[in-house]
Amino acid sequence: MPEPTPVLPEVLAQIASLPASGNRLIVCDVDEVVLHLIRHLETYLHERDLVFLNHEYRLTGNIGRRDDLSVLSADHVRKHLLDFFDAISHAQDLVHGADIALNNLSENWDIVLLTNLPGGHNKPTREKLLGSLGVPYPVVTNSGPKGGAVAALAANRKGPVVFIDDSPTNHTSVQASLPSSVQIQFIADQRFRQATAPEDHIDLLTGDWQETADFISAIV
Ligand SMILES: [Mg+2]
Repeated sequence: MPEPTPVLPEVLAQIASLPASGNRLIVCDVDEVVLHLIRHLETYLHERDLVFLNHEYRLTGNIGRRDDLSVLSADHVRKHLLDFFDAISHAQDLVHGADIALNNLSENWDIVLLTNLPGGHNKPTREKLLGSLGVPYPVVTNSGPKGGAVAALAANRKGPVVFIDDSPTNHTSVQASLPSSVQIQFIADQRFRQATAPEDHIDLLTGDWQETADFISAIV
């Protein structure tokens, strides 16, 4: 079990600027949850004769050359991801049903979108795209594991907190920082979801927004 991670000052500043509320809270990731990521990344990789080597849930060590399946270095992966986000972050597709489900849930829950963006410099682009797709909730950008940010978002709230994210690393971090949260591992891509074994702290593993909304609505 990792130690709780502290919230970064630049993330805390964003959280402090949100309206004060004691309402129940959904903290929802964006990539591969509200917006497709893997399908766009796969297109980007194929255009460069690169492929996912398997459907394990990680990027570093899992992207290789199509011809000889040799693994790209961590540095190369990082550089490709920055290029990829610059190229795609204005045009990612909505995950089916995310807009309707979140809109229905927003009647009884506060919703904050907590997203890891390298450098945070695509935040306005991302907010604009989400707004145009019917997902107009506050966006907080983070970097690294999300536990500290989720605990800071949950502070001073009495009601339950739901955390929705695809990444096992973020779920482990949230379990360490806010073990009382309800943890939903949402992975839109069926291949990667089916290759994922949920850990004990995961309350629901899904790729379906209707199932997610039903599950959250049943929380008392
Ligand atoms: Mg994600």
